[in-house]
Amino acid sequence: MLIDTHAHLDFPEFAQDLEGVLERAKRAGVDEVVSIGISLTSSEKAIELANRYPEVYATVGIHPHDAATLTEKQVTALESLAQNRRVVAIGEVGLDYYRDRRPRVVQRQCLRQQLEIACKTQSPVVFHVREAHADFFAIVTDYAAALNGVVLHCFSGDWVVAKRCLDMGFYLSIPGTVTFPKAEKQQEVVRKAPLDRLLLETDAPYLAPVPYRGKVNEPAFTRYTAEKVAELRRCSLEEVAHQTTANAHQVFRMGSLNT
Ligand SMILES: [Zn+2]
Ligand SMILES: [Zn+2]
Repeated sequence: MLIDTHAHLDFPEFAQDLEGVLERAKRAGVDEVVSIGISLTSSEKAIELANRYPEVYATVGIHPHDAATLTEKQVTALESLAQNRRVVAIGEVGLDYYRDRRPRVVQRQCLRQQLEIACKTQSPVVFHVREAHADFFAIVTDYAAALNGVVLHCFSGDWVVAKRCLDMGFYLSIPGTVTFPKAEKQQEVVRKAPLDRLLLETDAPYLAPVPYRGKVNEPAFTRYTAEKVAELRRCSLEEVAHQTTANAHQVFRMGSLNT
């Protein structure tokens, strides 16, 4: 069994054939999928999907591309979405200084507002951090003691950054890009990190792994990432599947929601 810990199932790419997407995932051994919110609307849609399909879970949050100073009303809305029983984390939230779609000061403020919500609701947090690791550490340090689990999705840092995250008790989520021949930095992280701190994800519909590079990504393709991780670590696919699934259940407390 594998878990895709980061997919955007509410995106238009999947609207026509979501049942087919979930069916193919199941056939590839991907039994659970976390659908990630990027705005209030998308978070509500993720919850809707999680209510409709037992194998889908949801997160709620505002992506740094959509960062804004949240009004009291928006904070309250996010807080109440976070209480939904199908919601496993706040996210994806963070800082993106690569695309820089919103002023950095606004991104930082929006992130802090959502970390307050995570602390208050005792939710784990799924972070999106691109070319902003220094500011990420500066902010997350203020909340680390109160946060109930931290995941760096689509981990893009080098081993030095990875080590610092691991020392703080964070999980690193590995996307399909690890299968790209030039992904040496990411591959080094996968080889060196303890297996009990790695998660697998697609970030579907983006970042399809080899052999589907450039195509629309979907949860079933988590399997190619798992195979690459097993190859890099010289262990079996079963071991990778077993441990990364246990990790996801641990950080997102997914098992307890099933019972
Ligand atoms: Zn992201
Ligand atoms: Zn994403």
